[in-house]
Amino acid sequence: MEVLKKISEVLQGVGTMGIAGHIRPDGDCVGSCLALYLYMKKNYPQIETDLYLEEPRPVFHYLKDIDKIKTQTEGDREYDLFVTCDVSARDRIAVAAEYFEKAKKTLCIDHHVSNRGFAQINHVLGEVSSASEVLYGLLDEDKIDQSIAVALYTGIIHDTGVFQYSSTSPDTMRTAAKLMETGFDFSRVIDKSFYEKTYIQNQVMGRVLAESIMLQDGKCIVGYLRRKDMIFYGVDGKDLEGIVSQLRLTKGVEVAIFLYEIGTQVFKVSMRSNGKIDVSKIAVYFGGGGHTRAAGCDLQGSMYDVVNNITAEIERQMLMEQD
Ligand code: AMP
Ligand code: MN
Ligand code: MN
Repeated sequence: MEVLKKISEVLQGVGTMGIAGHIRPDGDCVGSCLALYLYMKKNYPQIETDLYLEEPRPVFHYLKDIDKIKTQTEGDREYDLFVTCDVSARDRIAVAAEYFEKAKKTLCIDHHVSNRGFAQINHVLGEVSSASEVLYGLLDEDKIDQSIAVALYTGIIHDTGVFQYSSTSPDTMRTAAKLMETGFDFSRVIDKSFYEKTYIQNQVMGRVLAESIMLQDGKCIVGYLRRKDMIFYGVDGKDLEGIVSQLRLTKGVEVAIFLYEIGTQVFKVSMRSNGKIDVSKIAVYFGGGGHTRAAGCDLQGSMYDVVNNITAEIERQMLMEQD
């Protein structure tokens, strides 16, 4: 669905523009949305641009204009253009979904394989590492200043696990190189936003790892956190990033699953695959979405039901693999 050459193609006659990302925004979502916002402010100051996101995690506070994000809508608005970045489906828009519906023109910039195209214009490249890298392709290189570069770089390192996941391509590295040339402290960006954990976050991760269970002859590992334990440690979903990635690194494991309670008998499920199993198919089956090797969904039921349902589906896929 590569439909645009440059973002300028959709800016003709646009006086107002809204930007939004997905619920529980990750580094790619925050990075791509802010990069587009900063790009518009710098290069198209005549277009009134607003950015709507759920409150980003504090680790992203080094990003310029993070304080300009609107975490709530403000009355009736009809934007000339509304753009979503890193959003895989319409019901995943976090804040300002109503503005998306009402906008004169809508554009979706994304990289989720599960994205079916919910906007009028869908620029969705499923093979590309991140929405930030997709967005980079739509921007003019000479119009990208350091603050825009830092935001895009942040998005790319988060969705590639710092250039490690298989979605990292030579183009990803060329993009990162171009961004790096603007001269920012990339080591600090990586440490501050990706690796650094609070003491409590490390404690919680340690606990989840210690209590994790191996299923299906060690091909599947499951980690979980119950509401009462989240309350005990004083953590929420935002504090739990990185746990499922650590589970995935367990020797012999094909699929890692991490679930935590987001409400009474409602679980947020994160899945990571080492390649054999397409976890996006499993997530889509349960009403979620994502990528081949990283996907998620929200499920209702007891923890045992959720684990049983997910692992049964994984087992089914493993068996089909063998056929
Ligand atoms: P996470 O496990 O939350 O880090 O998510 C991994 C990937 O799956 C991300 O690209 C998300 O956008 C996607 N994803 C996670 N949860 C859902 C969901 N409930 N619906 C659709 N996509 C999801
Ligand atoms: Mn994302
Ligand atoms: Mn992404």
